[in-house]
Amino acid sequence: MLKKRILSSHFMCVLYSIFLIFVCSFILVIPVSAESVLQLQTQIADYRSVLLQWESEQMDSSFYLYRSFDGSNYTMMASLSGQAGTVKCYDHDVKMGKTYYYKIVQMEHDKVVGESEAEKVKVVLPTPTDFKTKVIKKTRVQLTWNKVQNAYSYTIYRSTKSSGGFQKIATIKGARYIDYDVSRGTTYYYKIVANHKKKKNWQSQKSSVVSAHLKMVAPAVVGSYAKNKIKLTWTKVKGADSYYVYKENNNGKFELVKKTSKLYYKDGNVKKGKSYTYKVLAIDKVNGSVVKGDACLPYTIKAVDIDPNQKMVALTYDDGPGIYTEDIVNCLKANQAKATFFVLGCNVDSHKKALVAADKIGCEIGNHTYGHPMLSRLSEEAIRKEITQTDKKIENAIGKKATIMRPPGGDYNNMVAKTVGKPIIMWSIDTRDWEHRNSSRVYSSVMNNVKDGDIILMHDIHKATRDASMTLIPRLRREGYQLVTVSELAQYRGYSLEKGKVYHRLGRKATKNN
Ligand code: ZN
Repeated sequence: MLKKRILSSHFMCVLYSIFLIFVCSFILVIPVSAESVLQLQTQIADYRSVLLQWESEQMDSSFYLYRSFDGSNYTMMASLSGQAGTVKCYDHDVKMGKTYYYKIVQMEHDKVVGESEAEKVKVVLPTPTDFKTKVIKKTRVQLTWNKVQNAYSYTIYRSTKSSGGFQKIATIKGARYIDYDVSRGTTYYYKIVANHKKKKNWQSQKSSVVSAHLKMVAPAVVGSYAKNKIKLTWTKVKGADSYYVYKENNNGKFELVKKTSKLYYKDGNVKKGKSYTYKVLAIDKVNGSVVKGDACLPYTIKAVDIDPNQKMVALTYDDGPGIYTEDIVNCLKANQAKATFFVLGCNVDSHKKALVAADKIGCEIGNHTYGHPMLSRLSEEAIRKEITQTDKKIENAIGKKATIMRPPGGDYNNMVAKTVGKPIIMWSIDTRDWEHRNSSRVYSSVMNNVKDGDIILMHDIHKATRDASMTLIPRLRREGYQLVTVSELAQYRGYSLEKGKVYHRLGRKATKNN
């Protein structure tokens, strides 16, 4: 090794048949007085040839190369000398499917100084070279390799472990394969073999393993501000061990502020009224090293309770409180959201707990009459009774009166409007949940239509509506909607709600030009 010279590091010898004839009769018994062990390496080089190579340490060594068909009767094939470094020698005189044994013996001044172990080589197709992976558009893996002469097809094996568990995924004829059946946040390992046209057992050896990692998706982040803290929450990412939270500093650079396995981060280092920008990405530990997923787009949030520059809508639930109300309240709470419940006076006492819970997280309680009559058919006195009885029930439960009302069935006229003594809140999106009782229809009727300033009509007495709310609320939050009460929506969009007036939506008022 010490005398290894780079410039003269290898030479080749091609074994001509004339030389073979010359040495063929020489059957050898290899001397046993070997002092050093030589490492002979063999490889199927090109189609029908075997590459033999070893290291030569000294210029004055010579090497005898022997070959056998059965592992016991060796024939000398070549004598090589005068080189230091890697010695390479090709045996082109081989047949597909046959097995050969090779040995080398090192000589110095006619004395045997070393010998290699016998190397058994079955001549098959060469293993495809330059086998490599490339992740395309983050969602699929492209495999490419060099074509092997006389290969009919290639079989690709895949595993999600670096060793073991490999399964055949495809046999194809070209030199390119795209694996679509992959998922983000996973590392895939591949091997390939070349198949011969004629015989199955002439296929190449399996290639060494190559891998491809599909980056984890970015988490979807939403934030809210309350009690002098910004709270970020994000969606769980497949394949993630933990998450890194970055915060933009004064120089516009993102600094790592938190490593967490949780799905939220609370930042107390904020000043009210200022905006802050964050990024969150998922982390996976692969073989001890950190693999980062895609970062979410920079998420900016202002340290104010409600940011009027952001989109906002009011979810409203009528006819409760009922057995599903608390589930909805819990979901709102978990998503830093609020809603408005237009309750029936007759239901308040039996579901008082739900109403108190809703009030506690900042939801608004509106008046939906006591017993759900069509108000236009009632006398003024009867209308007043419906309203005041319900106000009393609400006040008794949460300690405050309802300041807004919604008439049952949306039924009102001038007399009703005058008599109820409160702003009348209608809606701009009707989910018709009471009619179809189908949660995916509730969900899509909102998601397909929602825009800033909408008032969304639902009923918290239906299971389908509860179920839809569980996905609808986080989805709206992820889409950037602040879920506010009707009164907050009015306040931030510049409406002063007036008694007896009717409101359908509370969008941004058109800015006056001229
Ligand atoms: Zn109703």
